[in-house]
Amino acid sequence: MAKEIKGIAASEGIGIAPAYRLVEPDLSYQKRRVTNSLTEYKRVMQAFDESIDELQKLKKRAQTRLSTDELAIFDAHITILSDPELLKQVKQLIEQQVCAEEAVDRVTGRFARTLSQVADPYIQERAGDVRDVAKRAMAHLLGKKLPDIAAIDRPVILVAHEVTPSDTSQMDVRYIKGIVTDLGGRTSHAAIMARTLRIPAVVGTDHITNSTQDGQLIVADGLHGNVIIEPSQEEVTAFTTKAKQLEQARQEWSKKVNAPSISKDGQRFEICANIGNPSDVTDAVRQGADGVGLFRSEFLYMGSDHMPTEDEQYRAYRQALVGMQGKPVVVRTLDIGGDKPLPYLPLPREMNPFLGYRAIRICLKHPEIFRVQLRALIRASEYGPLSIMFPMIGTVAELRAAKKIFNDCKAELQKERPGLGDGIKLGMMIEVPLAAINADQLAKEVDFFSIGTNDLIQYNFAADRGNDEVSYLYQPLNPAFLSLIKHVIDAGHRHHTKVAMCGEMAGDKLALPLLMGMGLDEYSMSASSILRTRSLMGKLDTSKCAQLAATAINDCVTVEEVQDLVRDKLKIK
Ligand code: PEP
Ligand code: MG
Repeated sequence: MAKEIKGIAASEGIGIAPAYRLVEPDLSYQKRRVTNSLTEYKRVMQAFDESIDELQKLKKRAQTRLSTDELAIFDAHITILSDPELLKQVKQLIEQQVCAEEAVDRVTGRFARTLSQVADPYIQERAGDVRDVAKRAMAHLLGKKLPDIAAIDRPVILVAHEVTPSDTSQMDVRYIKGIVTDLGGRTSHAAIMARTLRIPAVVGTDHITNSTQDGQLIVADGLHGNVIIEPSQEEVTAFTTKAKQLEQARQEWSKKVNAPSISKDGQRFEICANIGNPSDVTDAVRQGADGVGLFRSEFLYMGSDHMPTEDEQYRAYRQALVGMQGKPVVVRTLDIGGDKPLPYLPLPREMNPFLGYRAIRICLKHPEIFRVQLRALIRASEYGPLSIMFPMIGTVAELRAAKKIFNDCKAELQKERPGLGDGIKLGMMIEVPLAAINADQLAKEVDFFSIGTNDLIQYNFAADRGNDEVSYLYQPLNPAFLSLIKHVIDAGHRHHTKVAMCGEMAGDKLALPLLMGMGLDEYSMSASSILRTRSLMGKLDTSKCAQLAATAINDCVTVEEVQDLVRDKLKIK
């Protein structure tokens, strides 16, 4: 009997394939006293040899996909497994009658602790390598199999507790037909990434990892947030038909690829792409983006094993600008912290990381980090229309401090190159409730706002965006929230400041008519949503949308009332 599990629809599409559980096996062991230390030590040698063999195979398979730097990690792991000192210490323990598992555990633990206490962050990171290697060797000792996302070479539905940016960077997207996770909400980073990669996803199922087995056939319905385990033949046929219908609709929308983003009554808007890496611009152009409305620059930092240098960043921003062929690119400065750690920038452990030391707060405290990024951006601005925006601004003082560092960097670079960076537009994200309330003051100080609804909703509703228990509070259409959005748009326009939105609400089809009715200028979203949005925009009349927005804000009380209102009036399902 097929089993259905409910989750949150996180990335449109339907995937049907066997499950691949990205779940670590239990590597706990029973301590034993050994009598034959030679046999016991042979078990270690065998486990280490098998691990080396496996790493060599993995490296070979990854050869075409990973850079030389990334491939070097496999060699580093092999070197650890061949380290004579490590082997010697393991042998000594076994000779004292300690069993193989405990000996490997203790020695690798000791090595990792020593490395993590060295001041050099590069050496500290090697501690993580030792722990990874230890896990692999332990799995071999215990006869268990470690999941390996990089080794997937056939179509699967990835089933995981959560999917991290490092998981997505390792996987071969051709084979990932769907993602289903226990954790996460619609705006968690795994969900955003799935949309960018156009992989159907259902998140926040709570217990999918406990409810599936490797190889079981699964349907991931990213349209409705359902997961079907072991579907019947009829269900497979029905879902295959739905997937085909979606494909047909996509072909219809694709006719708009070179069309302007325009309403039925001829009002022009901009529909832009959210990207995480400069190479994402290829897809943005393919999907007909009017520009890049959000380049999440922290992904450059997260994808690197060191703080990216000014030149490395300069090349990345230049690549994005050149790739967009004259269309505007908005780069958001480093938004690290919260749920986005940097391995080489140790941050203090915090009780409430989302309310803590993150984004602009880190950059203002560490101008030496901030300046590298700003200088790289200013230098790259020669290659196309560049805008820079600051994340998580709460107060006018923070905004002014960020602008001052920008202006200092510009003045410095202009000593050599007069006029460099003068065309850059400066903006800020509206993510902090106080910034939204204070939009009138802030609008006087920037060229544009970009409303980050993912965080603005989490902070206004006091509901962690990654916690599925409170995901019902992700309510972009709540009338009170809509009136806050309207306040920001009106305040921006009173001061001739352009107002964009780059949170997930911008690509929400029910929100679109309301936002158009409020006069939002720019809509920035996953590239995969651009053509659907442009197609719908062309069917909407702005004066009717304005009436609809007024009714939603003034006459509706609950989010359900607004949803029904929009669906009813516009016949959107
Ligand atoms: C937002 O908060 O809406 C946003 C776009 O930023 P991020 O999702 O990267 O936090
Ligand atoms: Mg944000």
